[in-house]
This record gives sequence, C-alpha cells and structure tokens, in this order.
Amino acid sequence: MGRLQKILIPFLGLVLAFWFYSARDTFNPEMLRGKRVIVTGASTGIGEQMAYHLARMGSHVLLTARTEARLQNVVRRCLELGAASARFVSGTMEDTAFAQHVVREAQTSLGGLDMLILNHVGASYFGFFDGDVEHVRKLLEINFLSYVAMTTSALPMLKESEGSIVVVSSMAGKVGFPFTVPYSATKFALDGFFSSLRQEFAIQSINVSITLCILGFIDTDRAVRAAAEVLQERPAPRDECALEILKGAALRRRELYYRYSSTRLPLLLRDCAAELLDYLVRRRYR
Ligand code: NAP
Repeated sequence: MGRLQKILIPFLGLVLAFWFYSARDTFNPEMLRGKRVIVTGASTGIGEQMAYHLARMGSHVLLTARTEARLQNVVRRCLELGAASARFVSGTMEDTAFAQHVVREAQTSLGGLDMLILNHVGASYFGFFDGDVEHVRKLLEINFLSYVAMTTSALPMLKESEGSIVVVSSMAGKVGFPFTVPYSATKFALDGFFSSLRQEFAIQSINVSITLCILGFIDTDRAVRAAAEVLQERPAPRDECALEILKGAALRRRELYYRYSSTRLPLLLRDCAAELLDYLVRRRYR
C-alpha cells in the first residue's frame, strides 16, 4: 500500500499537471486578429501559406521576398481572404540594409509590430560539401545574419507590443544532416543565437517570446524538387505546417516541432544514443 501511494500520488500529480498545462494553452484564431505581422519568404512555400492563414484570421500582414510579381499575387489573395491589411516590400536578404528597411516599413505603415516571422531561406545545393567557403558565407548572410539584423531593428517595437519572434528552422538545425552542410550550419547558428537571446530576455524581464520551429520534410516545391527522389519519407502538407507554426507562435511556445513524430521523437535519442540517431538520419536517404 505504501509503495502504491509512492507511485500513484506522483503519477496522478503528473497527469493533473499535464491536464492543467494543456487546458491553459488552447489556440484561438482570435488571438491573431488585428495583429501586425511581418512574414519573410512569403512569395512561395510555407511563408505564403502563413500569409493566407493570417489573412483569414484578420491580421495586418507585411510580406517580403525578392519576386515582386509573386508577392503581388499573394497580397491580392490575402485581401480576398480577409486580411485587415496586406502589403509587400521586395528585395534580397543578402543585403542587411534591406532587412532593416523591411522593419522600418512596419513602423511607417503599421505603426508598430506584434510578430516577426523569420522564414526565408537562400538557395543551396544538395550533395556532398564541395568546399566552397564563399557559398557558406553568402548563405550565412541570407539565412542567419539577416534574421539577426531584422530582430535587432524590430526589438524596440516588439518590446512595446510585448510581441513575438518566430524563427523557422529545421531538423537539420538540431542534428547533423548529410548533403546539406552549408544549410545545416546556418540553421544551427539560428538555434545558438535565438536560444541565448531568449535567456537574456528572461534575465532582463523582456516579455518578447521566441519560438524556434523545428520542421521535418514539408511538401513545398523547392524541397520536393531537391529531396523527393532521395528521401524515403513522404512530405507533410505545407498549409498544415504553416498553421501549426502560427499556433505555436500565438501560444508563445519556446519550440515547435512539426511533424512531431519525425522531429521531436527522434531527437529524444540525441543525448542517450547519438550514433543511433545519426544512423537513422542516414537511413532516410535512398
Ligand atoms: P521556399 O518555398 O523555397 O521559400 C523560400 C522563400 O524565401 C521564398 O519566398 C523566396 O522568395 C525567399 N527567398 C529566397 N532567397 C531569398 C533572398 N535572397 N532574399 C529574400 N528572400 C529570399 O522554402 P520553404 O520550403 O517554404 O521553406 C521555408 C522555411 O522552412 C525555410 O526557413 C526552410 O529552411 C524551412 N524548412 C523547410 C523544410 C521543407 O521541407 N520545405 C524543412 C525544414 C525547414 P524569392 O525567391 O521570391 O526571393
């Protein structure tokens, strides 16, 4: 009986704690109504889908990428779907000044910012590391330094609104992946920067949430073109992925895993069986 109590009471405590935690965190699309949101890399893929979800929820969206014609179409569709407002700024994130310019545009046209969604990604190759250091440098500028520059410029507005930063990363930013060495390096850098920044926010009582999104294989055109032939698994749908990111962001989660089964669960092996995890990652490829 004594032993039963020792096991049963902590177990019931855990169940209650889990129930309380889940009940507290329920997503409601109203959470994003009227919010002023920047989405980078919004001309295609997951970024485009996030723009449409935000539009349906009645947010103000400021979209950016390089291709103006595509951005025009996305903005038009956002307005049809019910966005409180939709506009775009086109340019390349290779240029830090452009990254800062996008944030200034939010100040000018929206009068502030509630959510900064950092999602864009520069083109890279799929294959063994070819030793091209210049390519690594360029990719770091697009995938990492522009994220840092936008965050730095947006911070005063985000502090004022007690807003959120959303960083779209990858399984390749948590565990070593073959054939995407430069890409993987830029995603690991994001984890280091934003997880450390979150610690400093806690120390300084800055109420700006940082959600790091760890994504598996998603069915965007670019990813399917690059990896469908060589990966054994089926890609997850981009619209569902986009919605899960927004839910995680609205609930101010520290990390978001999508899909859970192909990201969070394998990562549980990282500390206790790293070699097994490496092997499982290699086995994903044909
Ligand atoms: P995607 O369809 O290729 O979209 C990338 C976006 O970034 C486009 O809007 C592109 O627009 C923009 N972009 C590219 N180069 C740029 C530059 N130099 N300056 C400014 N914008 C630029 O990518 P996705 O598959 O949706 O991926 C979105 C995010 O999810 C990325 O951070 C990616 O790492 C992450 N992720 C994706 C997968 C997946 O399987 N799809 C898996 C894990 C993580 P323009 O070409 O018009 O500039």
